[in-house]
Amino acid sequence: MTFLYNKGAIGSFMKKMVFSKKRFSSKPSNLGYYSKVFVTCSASIVCAAGIVIGATLAVLHVNNTNGQGGGSDPKLSMIMSEADSSVKASNISDMEADSEALGLAALMGEDHATEAPAVSDNTSTTLTYTSYRVKKGDMISLIADAYNITTDTIYSANNTITNSRLIQPGQYIKIPSMSGILYTTKKENETPATIAEKYSVDAERCALVNNTDLNAPLKMGTTVFVPGAEMDWETKLEINGDLFKLPLHSYFYISSRWGWRPDPFGSGRRSYHGGIDMACPKGTPIYSAKAGRVVSTGYSNVYGNYVIVSHGQGYKTLYGHMTRILTSNGAFVDTSTKIGLVGSTGASTGPHLHFTVYKNGKSINPTNVVNFAKR
Ligand SMILES: [Zn+2]
Repeated sequence: MTFLYNKGAIGSFMKKMVFSKKRFSSKPSNLGYYSKVFVTCSASIVCAAGIVIGATLAVLHVNNTNGQGGGSDPKLSMIMSEADSSVKASNISDMEADSEALGLAALMGEDHATEAPAVSDNTSTTLTYTSYRVKKGDMISLIADAYNITTDTIYSANNTITNSRLIQPGQYIKIPSMSGILYTTKKENETPATIAEKYSVDAERCALVNNTDLNAPLKMGTTVFVPGAEMDWETKLEINGDLFKLPLHSYFYISSRWGWRPDPFGSGRRSYHGGIDMACPKGTPIYSAKAGRVVSTGYSNVYGNYVIVSHGQGYKTLYGHMTRILTSNGAFVDTSTKIGLVGSTGASTGPHLHFTVYKNGKSINPTNVVNFAKR
């Protein structure tokens, strides 16, 4: 199919959008409006992958269970995990106190959160938790400042916060009484001493905070609180939604977002869209969204010419509908590597890149890990 640029009403609509590009891209705060505008033309240039996506994804999931480096960084998987590992942690002494605080906060209602904390102490060896109810307009950085702890501390203690843009008023978050992060041991016989060394923090204090001995071997999978430790760079990027770069470096617009959407073929049913569709002229170069290794290339009826890149930490990205693939299986790529050119192969109604981000085999909303406002 040819690019719809010059055809009829859709063509003129798109021209208008191209004309407006600078205005939108220079003001990230307009992104919401920007996306909304394009919903109206989302039927024009999208992939039709949603209709048959169940079967296709099942195949991809099988691929994803192999060699994706899952679990190589428990901190990351802990943060992404839905299970609340901090509650399971046997070495955190004050979880009962925390639950009480949570109940108390609920009874106290909205105003509870505004009270100045009396507990933060970044030299103490006694770890306690209080709970904070998020208010409208709150930001993690301001909450952290109010409690005299690092933002890392809050992210680490609350693995339900996977993205800094996603805290909701009314949500309760745990506030540790000191700065530090949760760490889950990756192998047998790690000790407070070895963990403290890894994070370059005071080993004695690390042992005391966790009520254990400096050289006491910990069972694999034990979660400890590492006072004074900061998250690694990758985890921070992930939380800030900057883990991946945009796979298109030139102009595009979002013609279909991730999630449930009306069937692009107009059956009236809703279908699940596992990625984001980025419409742009045929031949636009596609770049890997993060450094990684190409684990699959080929043709499918749904995605046309596609490339899948594995990035470690359980992440994979898929790029579909390419007119040409410019990489090959096993190739190491980074964000400056052209891996293909935009096309309309497979189930597609016009030139666009279908971009999926997988975390541990499940597609996640790309806008949580790529900053689409930054362009
Ligand atoms: Zn798509």
